[in-house]
Amino acid sequence: MSYSGGFDDAYSARGRGPNLRLIGALILAVIGIAMYLFETQVNPVTGKRQHIAMSVDQEKALGLQAAPEMAAKMGGVLGPDRDPRAALVSEVGRRIVRDSDASRSPYVGNFHFYLLSDPETVNAFALPGGQVFITAGLFDRLENEAQLAGVLGHEIGHVVNRHTAEQMAKSRLGQMLTLAVGVGASGGDDRGRNAQMIAALVNQVTQLRFSRDDESEADRFGIQFMAQSGYDPTAMLDVMRILKEESKGNRQPEFLATHPLPETRLEEIQALLQSEYPNGVPPSLSKGRTLEGGRVLGRFRGE
Ligand SMILES: [Zn+2]
Repeated sequence: MSYSGGFDDAYSARGRGPNLRLIGALILAVIGIAMYLFETQVNPVTGKRQHIAMSVDQEKALGLQAAPEMAAKMGGVLGPDRDPRAALVSEVGRRIVRDSDASRSPYVGNFHFYLLSDPETVNAFALPGGQVFITAGLFDRLENEAQLAGVLGHEIGHVVNRHTAEQMAKSRLGQMLTLAVGVGASGGDDRGRNAQMIAALVNQVTQLRFSRDDESEADRFGIQFMAQSGYDPTAMLDVMRILKEESKGNRQPEFLATHPLPETRLEEIQALLQSEYPNGVPPSLSKGRTLEGGRVLGRFRGE
């Protein structure tokens, strides 16, 4: 239609523009939501259907690529041949993968357990695909091998449940919706900017909630994995106590964003142990070797 240009221009001048923007925004939102909803995979270990936009091989590659950067950020990796703490981290991590349901995961040959030399940061991380890290700051506060198994079991729980890949799919959805709100509300005034800010905030809050759920799920799997590998799961309660003490003088928002308050997790773990072991934890489950200020004392039973 040769005259359509002038026709449309006339319309948008009379307020047709905002409608077109709304349609554009709606299309963006629908594409974002559809991409999120239709890209699902069934987890081979948990049987859960998850919204994930990458393959297992992509997760493995991403984790391996990001591992050196993670290490560099935390003072570098301490090698197992030079540091007995690093040797224990690797040994306990591998035992859990070998002896628990994590052995049925597609990441089984790809797990690596690293001790990061940062003595200040008290934390542990997992990259997608099986790269697991614990800082010396956390390791040196642990009192026995079972507590270490609890920390590593929790991180293995994140890997097996593909939490990072899930978060990445969610944040892509969030970005699409934020963009959609921005397009829909863009009128060149403050209203548009406000709407964008609100959308970003909503996005943040939903992710916060999701990661709290992820933390609880990783705790549940961690407890199961450590018990299957011969460790006393009540040691996870001690880990929470250690984290709680640590958070007392250290309540930054980032910490709260990635870890629910240890009190909440402590209660959840207590309830879980109560229902799993109503008659107490079987005596065959062990606290393992004693740790003292980062030193490894004694030997693991049966070795
Ligand atoms: Zn976690």
